[in-house]
Amino acid sequence: MRRVFNFSAGPGALPLEVLEKAQQELICYGDSGMSVMEMSHRSKDYDAIIKSAEAKLREVMGIPANYKVLFLQGGASLQFAMIPLNLLRKSFKADYIESGQFASKALKEAQKFGTINVVASSKADQYSYIPKVAKEDFDPEADYVYICDNNTIYGTKFHEYPDTGDVPLVADMSSCILSEPVDVSKFGIIYAGAQKNLGPAGVTLVIIREDLIGHAKENTPAMLDYKLMADNHSMYNTPPTYGIYMLKLMFEWIEAQGGVKELEKRNKAKAELLYNFLDQSKLFKGTARKEDRSMMNVTFVTGDPELDAKFVKEAAAEGLVSLKGHRSVGGMRASIYNAMPIEGVQKLVDFMRKFEAEN
Ligand SMILES: *Cc1c(COP(=O)(O)O)cnc(C)c1O
Repeated sequence: MRRVFNFSAGPGALPLEVLEKAQQELICYGDSGMSVMEMSHRSKDYDAIIKSAEAKLREVMGIPANYKVLFLQGGASLQFAMIPLNLLRKSFKADYIESGQFASKALKEAQKFGTINVVASSKADQYSYIPKVAKEDFDPEADYVYICDNNTIYGTKFHEYPDTGDVPLVADMSSCILSEPVDVSKFGIIYAGAQKNLGPAGVTLVIIREDLIGHAKENTPAMLDYKLMADNHSMYNTPPTYGIYMLKLMFEWIEAQGGVKELEKRNKAKAELLYNFLDQSKLFKGTARKEDRSMMNVTFVTGDPELDAKFVKEAAAEGLVSLKGHRSVGGMRASIYNAMPIEGVQKLVDFMRKFEAEN
């Protein structure tokens, strides 16, 4: 068995310890006599798993008591619809910051349900930066303000959250959740598809302030109503049982590492290593505006698509895989989520140096 350094943007790498623990428990979980995959979601054993997943997350993320934690399905993309369906309730207006393709998709979906105002956009510059906004730019009557915190495709991140006053701030944190401490109380909703920084695909984590629950329009499908999901503790129907179990292992792993603060320290060191190399390189160039750079997704190019392709191919042969940029932007992208050890980033930088010398 040779495990590679996997720089995939998503589904992304998982810590080996988490996979090994899952392997140990795969066939028989505790003294249940069965795999978690075979368990009734109404069983006592499973109830303990989902409760412990939530409790661990609340602990490592510091989630206040007036927030519900939901484990849903449909990916981050279903939240693009679920958010307007549940949150548009007074003015039926919402403010969106268009910082990338996922924010753009989210606002297009929301336009089906209300009046969506694009407060700022970096689309004209290939989403290479985070648009700056002031409090006055927001509509005080808006039902919510929406941001995509970390722009997975472009390698940009909000390093300061917009001040939206009393208007709830909703954030897609699919590709940065638990990469650094976050003050949850600043947000109305934080959500994340699991497959970037949390676990396998199939679970969507939603953290929602209680007062935002229970406002869905009457014709909202049951599965898209936060209230029904919250009232039933994410078990209105069969939840993605194994995925939630994997999240539990991941949250335990985070705690064992020393918590989110320690992960932030490591993530900073990893990102710095790579960006410092990029900034002095004569061949490679970072594509995101410096002040908005992401700690999780590092995007770069050589300027020559053929050389980019050569780099991706030769890196893969060295066990540095999935470095190809998103199909919409090309170039390279190194996703260095929580599970990527600094050794992987060091090996990547060493290889880039060698490639630069040879080309
Ligand atoms: C990957 C991603 C999505 C889409 O996630 P799905 O689970 O595939 O729907 C949305 N937002 C961000 C920031 C992402 O990285």
